[in-house]
Amino acid sequence: MAERRYNFNPGPAALPLEVLEQAKEELVEYGESGLSLLEMSHRSKIVERLNAETQSLLLELLGLKEGYHALFMGGGASTQFALVAQNFLVPGKVGNYMLTGSFSEKAYSEAGYVGPVHAAASSKDAGWRSIPRLEEVRLEDPAAYLHITSNNTIEGSRYNVLPETGDVPLVADMTSDILGRVIDCGKLSLFYAGAQKNLGPAGVTAVVIRDSFLEKASKNIPVIQRYATFVKEKSLYNTPPVHTIYIMNLVLKWTAALGGVPEMERRNAEKSGLLYRVIDGSGGFYRGIVEPECRSQMNVTWRMADPELERRFLAESERAGFEGLGGHRSVGGLRASAYNAVPLEACQALADFMVEFQRVNG
Ligand SMILES: *Cc1c(COP(=O)(O)O)cnc(C)c1O
Repeated sequence: MAERRYNFNPGPAALPLEVLEQAKEELVEYGESGLSLLEMSHRSKIVERLNAETQSLLLELLGLKEGYHALFMGGGASTQFALVAQNFLVPGKVGNYMLTGSFSEKAYSEAGYVGPVHAAASSKDAGWRSIPRLEEVRLEDPAAYLHITSNNTIEGSRYNVLPETGDVPLVADMTSDILGRVIDCGKLSLFYAGAQKNLGPAGVTAVVIRDSFLEKASKNIPVIQRYATFVKEKSLYNTPPVHTIYIMNLVLKWTAALGGVPEMERRNAEKSGLLYRVIDGSGGFYRGIVEPECRSQMNVTWRMADPELERRFLAESERAGFEGLGGHRSVGGLRASAYNAVPLEACQALADFMVEFQRVNG
């Protein structure tokens, strides 16, 4: 194989090489079944077992034992923006949202088609460069839930602590930092993550829901949109993307074997630290976009003096083997997404490249 590129794609993102190789080995025949997983019934014992094992592995890695279910659903994290509201924004209640970036705005706007919504706090006027201070959060009653985006993939910011909401259920879009750092998931009533950042390939969305929260869900919506359907049918109500769930299974085992979430957090701090150190030590050649105390360890964002220099950086980085460093089209600048599967060596190579680029162009 040609040398692998340093993959900093924001999503779909890097997968562990070991996982890709094992999946290749097992593609044509899974175990001794005489079939590929790609052609196997989702009602078969093998797939039932794989599905159940993957759900337990996820809960285990998240440190959740009793009182939660893990679900695998379709439609990406974006579908959850609508489903959360359809299930829980019941008549008489208000959906509360923290606005901290474009994905949180989308969640808020989708919920607005279902019922009344309220922006409990926003960092929009601050150019999304920070997370609102928790003292600024104003919930509107009666609150169905407070929705947050734990890590803002596009802007490169994150919550360091979860908001305290008392009796109000806390719901989180954790697409870009699930399993990337230690979060007290026991404080969350529901959270979800499109798989294509830290969990596996695109095509499945992991949802974790607290059983006592599920009891509050609407029964007045189509069966396919109810979380209760997926709990009851163990996410086998209709045909799931079996092979995608299988790759997630391998990624979860890879994560566990390396030491689980605490070890991922340690690695991610080290990896992003290499890049932030170059940015902060560059005397303004590289300018971090987010306020230092709200910086993400998954998505490192920065700008340079002018768009022309940024274009040159991007073009030269691509020639040097780096993939996916352009900032989101809505933000511009540069972004390095260093998810769990991105190795330390890739971040070291990028840090070295940045230093050298500044030496030549600074
Ligand atoms: C990538 C991402 C999404 C969108 O996910 P899709 O699966 O493409 O719908 C939503 N929220 C966050 C935080 C993301 O990082």
